[in-house]
Amino acid sequence: MRLLVVEDETKTADYLRQGLTEAGFAVSLARNGLDGHHLAMTESFDLIILDVMLPDVDGWRILQSLREAKNTTPVLFLTARDSVDDRVKGLELGADDYLIKPFAFVEVLARVRSLLRRTQAPVAQDELQVADLEVNLLKRRVTRAGKRINLSHKEFCLLELLMRRQGEVLPRSIIASQVWDMNFDSDTNVIDVAIRRLRSKIDDEFEPKLIHTVRGMGYKLELEQVDEA
Ligand code: CA
Repeated sequence: MRLLVVEDETKTADYLRQGLTEAGFAVSLARNGLDGHHLAMTESFDLIILDVMLPDVDGWRILQSLREAKNTTPVLFLTARDSVDDRVKGLELGADDYLIKPFAFVEVLARVRSLLRRTQAPVAQDELQVADLEVNLLKRRVTRAGKRINLSHKEFCLLELLMRRQGEVLPRSIIASQVWDMNFDSDTNVIDVAIRRLRSKIDDEFEPKLIHTVRGMGYKLELEQVDEA
């Protein structure tokens, strides 16, 4: 499980990193809002612990950018102020839970585990569906409009990733690390080739198209609402 901690206060940051690392998490630490914003937007995490009061880009802005990008990574925010307004604002912006500083580490760990349990629930589900495209994860069976589609192992993994993160733009680097479990040089076209093959099977003969290229950014799978002009 990969966690991102965004916290500018050295003591709290080190304390969180050490504790969470000892609890078995892979922890990335950003010590300012700018780095936090960059990491949150470009890398994939299972959960983000976000301090609200940051000197440059504050926690609200980071949270807002994430949700605007349809990134649904669970966010636990840390607020020093025991203010109802702050908590309401955080939850309205799409945070999943909050902690008021100062907190005991056991409390952080309990919140993190409970949030992960809640948000990882889809992993246990055996059916994924977007429009008329259906994937049965247990039987590893894919159908579109009721028609059976045969995929290779990698194509299946790629489709599963795109469907689990539907609506989210996935950069090639994320697809490479999650489907091929490795980092590709940026000039490789392995992912583009795999996407093309997947498209030819699930999109070519069907409407509407579900896999979309987001120029300069990556790919996403989504049932887009098309405005007839
Ligand atoms: Ca702070």
